[in-house]
Amino acid sequence: MGISIISNATKHSLKKKRELEDLIRKKGLTLSEKNPDIVISIGGDGTLLAAFHRYVHQLNTIRFIGIHTGHLGFYTDWRDYELEELVDSLAADVDNSSVSYPLLDVQVNYTDQRESKHFLALNECTIRRVTGTMVGNVFIKGELFENFRGDGLSVSTPTGSTAYNKSIGGAVIHPQINALQLAEIASINNRVYRTLGSPLIIASNEWISIQLESHNDHVLSVDQLILSEENIKQIDYKIADERIHFASHRHTNFWSRVKDGFIEGTELKDELM
Ligand code: NAP
Ligand code: MN
Repeated sequence: MGISIISNATKHSLKKKRELEDLIRKKGLTLSEKNPDIVISIGGDGTLLAAFHRYVHQLNTIRFIGIHTGHLGFYTDWRDYELEELVDSLAADVDNSSVSYPLLDVQVNYTDQRESKHFLALNECTIRRVTGTMVGNVFIKGELFENFRGDGLSVSTPTGSTAYNKSIGGAVIHPQINALQLAEIASINNRVYRTLGSPLIIASNEWISIQLESHNDHVLSVDQLILSEENIKQIDYKIADERIHFASHRHTNFWSRVKDGFIEGTELKDELM
């Protein structure tokens, strides 16, 4: 079994990375940056997202594990004081058990001769216009659904539903549900312009397309990657064929994770007591 460790740049995370490397060697396990079977991220969700994008072409053969060194750490199952326990569980891990979650497949097509771009997102992809109203037609499964005017649109995965999507009023979706969520960012709704006005969730055999009428000054985000884009013609979103796998010898129940992350943070509890 080859293990790769990705940490953020804080002193604390880097120290934990060195400690973990020592423990892994002592147990007789192998470190492998190029072709790992296990990728361990040390930090928060941003670090796990970075680890995902670094190994995005090897998702089929990798299981991810998140170690949390502070902040929210929604995707992380282990705390930084549990390194020995984690390495013991890796050494004892004979059945390669894992859980997997859906990913978002994004294709961006341009009005000029440029080749289309292709991305996978773990959380979401947003398209926004920064210098004026974003105008575009939204299609579901190839059929015109609505004409959108507003700041932008977000399409998120179930595990991404608790991230940006939640901040713009989207629903939290259990990641066993193979679906995508489209949520509006400040849509214009009045007598003249009308959109659905609420988030919507499409089924696994459906896809969403956004055909832009405004062609300049767009900002496209794919998880933490932000791109300034000109001449986007259309963006197509579907559930990816690929999935992300997490090692599951410890994998927190989704609703407990939501409760811990958003309702009763242990930090707040300690402070009150
Ligand atoms: P960040 O600014 O640190 O992320 C914002 C917050 O979102 C952090 O508390 C982060 O946790 C948390 N987060 C990330 N993924 C999550 C998930 N799936 N469920 C629940 N919370 C999650 O930036 P980042 O760490 O590079 O992460 C990028 C993501 O941040 C984007 O994909 C987007 O979803 C989210 N974001 C949200 C807003 C917003 O809500 N207005 C604005 C910008 C970005 P950690 O502290 O553990 O990193
Ligand atoms: Mn972060």
